[in-house]
Amino acid sequence: MASHFNAISDPRKKGSCYYSQKDVLMSAFSCMYFQEPSLLKFQQQMEDQQGSNNCRSLFGIENIPQSSQLRDVLDNIPSDAIAPIFKDFFSRLRRHKHLEGYAILPNVLMCSIDGTQYYSSKKISCEHCLHKEHKTGEKTYSHAVLQGAIMHPDKKQVIPVMPEAIQNTDGSKNKIVKQMPLNAL
Ligand SMILES: [Zn+2]
Repeated sequence: MASHFNAISDPRKKGSCYYSQKDVLMSAFSCMYFQEPSLLKFQQQMEDQQGSNNCRSLFGIENIPQSSQLRDVLDNIPSDAIAPIFKDFFSRLRRHKHLEGYAILPNVLMCSIDGTQYYSSKKISCEHCLHKEHKTGEKTYSHAVLQGAIMHPDKKQVIPVMPEAIQNTDGSKNKIVKQMPLNAL
């Protein structure tokens, strides 16, 4: 994981950053690994001696970033940058034949997909935002992703695939946007 994170280019100015981008990405990953729903709470736990030791020994994190800095750095990393991690993850699963147990028919895997909205605002928007215009003329801006996961009815563990952003593209001809309007999510 660390080698993938190290390979992601860092758009920040060298010398002006206290935390390495790798430490930021690894901190976010460790938060997911421990399934802590609050980034702030997770970060506070990591500051105590035991948490800090876990971070260093398990994930090789040198400096644990504050949650606000963590968000600032993560926001500037394009989601495409993490695609090689999923590619590597799946080639390892395939190589060690872990996917075979997920076949629902010979050589057939089932990938369930679902859309989820993770950002919504009436005030703050960017060029990639989906937008919904209300009768009052007000607009709601949002971001959503389509998340797929390989599943098998007999297995508790699901295997997530790379999430796909649902976004407005040039001419708004994106099929995903048409099939999954925001109010259907
Ligand atoms: Zn946006």
